[in-house]
Amino acid sequence: MVGIPTLPISWTDALPVLESLRGSVAPVPWRGALPVTYRIGPGPAAVRLRVSFDWNLVPIHNVIARLDGRERPDEWVMRGNHHDAWVHGAEDPIAGLVAMLAEARAIGKLAAKGWRPRRSIVYAAWDGEEPGLFGSVEWVEHHADELREKLVAYINTDYNRRGVLQAFGSPSLQALFTEVTQGVDDPLRKVSVYRRKIAAELLAGAHEEQDETSRDFALMPLGSGSDFSGFVQHLGVASLDFSFVGDTAGGSYHTGYDTHDHFTRFMDPGFLYTRTLAQISGRLTLRLADADVLPFRMTAVRQDIGTYMDEVVTLLAERKQVAERHNRLLAAEVFRIAPTQGEYAAAPAPLAVPPDLDFAALMLADERLADAAACFDAAIARTAGNPPGPDTVASVNRLIREAERRFLRPEGLPGRPWFRHYISAPGSATGYEAKTFPSVREAIESGDWAAAQQEIGRLARVLTAFAGHVGKGCSLLQPDAEATPHDE
Ligand SMILES: [Zn+2]
Repeated sequence: MVGIPTLPISWTDALPVLESLRGSVAPVPWRGALPVTYRIGPGPAAVRLRVSFDWNLVPIHNVIARLDGRERPDEWVMRGNHHDAWVHGAEDPIAGLVAMLAEARAIGKLAAKGWRPRRSIVYAAWDGEEPGLFGSVEWVEHHADELREKLVAYINTDYNRRGVLQAFGSPSLQALFTEVTQGVDDPLRKVSVYRRKIAAELLAGAHEEQDETSRDFALMPLGSGSDFSGFVQHLGVASLDFSFVGDTAGGSYHTGYDTHDHFTRFMDPGFLYTRTLAQISGRLTLRLADADVLPFRMTAVRQDIGTYMDEVVTLLAERKQVAERHNRLLAAEVFRIAPTQGEYAAAPAPLAVPPDLDFAALMLADERLADAAACFDAAIARTAGNPPGPDTVASVNRLIREAERRFLRPEGLPGRPWFRHYISAPGSATGYEAKTFPSVREAIESGDWAAAQQEIGRLARVLTAFAGHVGKGCSLLQPDAEATPHDE
């Protein structure tokens, strides 16, 4: 990793710097839109930058509100959105925050009439998100023990504007998310939010056919970049994060142009998608808070894990192909003979060809998970017309609550102990973007084969434990389970 100091500056400040550069013309992808010939230097002009920072320490304030549940006050469903902004923050975070407040107000009206959810609902307006998720991460660390015990799920929203719903989340919540988005209409297209999403994926070539009966609303894996990070990556709480995007250009994002005026004229006139966001998050919150048996499913978890498994196997095979081809070309002196312009100073070095790695333990764990997940979801489906007794429901709910925690290892990911989730994490060098099977994938990417093999073993143990956990849920739900002792 190279530590290069970085400082965003305005184009008016950048223009004289760019104009003063000489040297080769920059490759096309490096060029911007300013009216200069982009060159890569070096020099000849030297630039002296005077930078002033505000190093003041100031307090930040999270605002937390809780409505206690009538039956299970010690099971919490949590909703959050940050309230701090880079400048005015109309789109990010206020559009998401007002949606959450509208939702909380609606639930408050129900509560004023005497209604109470089955579980407790906790609302959080986080501070210090933009400079580094400070409010939510400090809160998560401070309340870690209580949250591990009580938290069922965390639902995050953030920025919002007109467009197609984009959603990230734990795949155990995918079935619920699909159902909820099928029941809320896109305010401009007059079809469900779900249908618009599938149509957008079709247009982008992601699917061949529009098959609405068998396709879930696909949740993308959680990386980082908003307040869900502490919940899922540090505590192992099943989480969701979603927003509408895409109908408008995003150029005002995180700038001084993200104002109320700009937002109401261009980003979401009439607050149509602000309301739709509240409808979706509100229904998710109420469904999770009021369900008898928690609406989690495990088949989608197994499907995603199967995909990630194929991806790392393919990644290794590709690395091998690339290295072997490179070395063949090198042996044939292609790098010396072929160049048409100039000469290579030296032939490139040969590439190390990856060894075969043994994925058997991982595949075995995946098979066990496939069986356990199918059994669990079938058993859950049977409870619809034939609800199990209260003791079984309590045990199954606890098991569901703890399922995501099984993806953590207490020592964390290699080189970054705070991140403990072994299925999905932000990449070490990708910023927000998620890497699935991060420990194995990054070991392969960096060519550390011993580490890769060791991480395959660790990940297989995580998945085997998870499969065992889901299998236990399946046994609990068998008809005679009420009489069977269990060790939960
Ligand atoms: Zn934000």
